[in-house]
Amino acid sequence: MSKNGYRLFKNYDPYITSPFGYRIHPITGKKTLHAGVDYGTNGKKIPTYGLENGKVIQTGTTSANGNFVYVNYPRLKKSAIYEHLDSIKVRSGEEVNEDTIIGYTGETGDATGVHLHFGWYPEDEQNVGWYQRNWEDFEEYAYPPFLKKIGTPVLKTDMKNQIEVIIDNLYARDNPNGTILGYINKGFYDILAKKVLANYTWYKIASNIWIAYSPDFANLYLKEEKETDTDKENSQKEENNPKKQEEKEDEIKNEEVLDENKDKEMNDEKTLKEEPIIPEDNSSNLPKENLFNSFLKRFIEFVKKILKFLGIL
Ligand SMILES: [Zn+2]
Repeated sequence: MSKNGYRLFKNYDPYITSPFGYRIHPITGKKTLHAGVDYGTNGKKIPTYGLENGKVIQTGTTSANGNFVYVNYPRLKKSAIYEHLDSIKVRSGEEVNEDTIIGYTGETGDATGVHLHFGWYPEDEQNVGWYQRNWEDFEEYAYPPFLKKIGTPVLKTDMKNQIEVIIDNLYARDNPNGTILGYINKGFYDILAKKVLANYTWYKIASNIWIAYSPDFANLYLKEEKETDTDKENSQKEENNPKKQEEKEDEIKNEEVLDENKDKEMNDEKTLKEEPIIPEDNSSNLPKENLFNSFLKRFIEFVKKILKFLGIL
């Protein structure tokens, strides 16, 4: 039974043959820091995997470590060394994830049996000496839950019954005060339900996704347009009436058209006040000009004819 060691294997929970800490070294006989955890694999050479997204810093072989691989895990801000591998399956610089086989457990280097020695230390200590590193006990490491991005933002409408998430790492839970499912993506979400608990307003944004808003953090991560009570009542009534809903949609469409016209009017006004814009490329306007010119010519001829007819010219 391991607390964290199982993360290095697939469907295999290793046993600890030698824990992290000071001990009498089995080979040298000296009291030294055992700077890692030894995981036994029942004498079998089995694949050991990446913990999560990371990058191979170095691979190599020494007489003590045997075949080893250094991997950096940026989310955790930690680096690891896998030692005594029977074979190495990654290259230096390679990106890894939880499905990448780092190598097979073995007994290369100073080892008394097939096992994985797993060393764990702060990532910024890669370039300091082995004895200067603050090696940590991986079994005691509080492995942070792996949270994924969840939730699909919707298109912004008029912000009524919508909420805007403006930060990247807002927790999403399965219920108000429930289990954290992951992070919500930035964007707009429809509010399906609302629940006020203590200082927080909880918003249901999908069938099992809730996010919390506290006025203490106003403008930090959520924006919501205030809606009047009448709006709320109307929208609730209309939700239960599909015909009304259709009418409402038509209304919205009309409003949009009106708004568009309004914009146009405003633009026209603006254009009138401003100097006319002369296009740089006249060639594209040529056919239009020709048409206008010929019309003008014909019009002048027509005026001339009238004037002639009236005996002025
Ligand atoms: Zn060891």
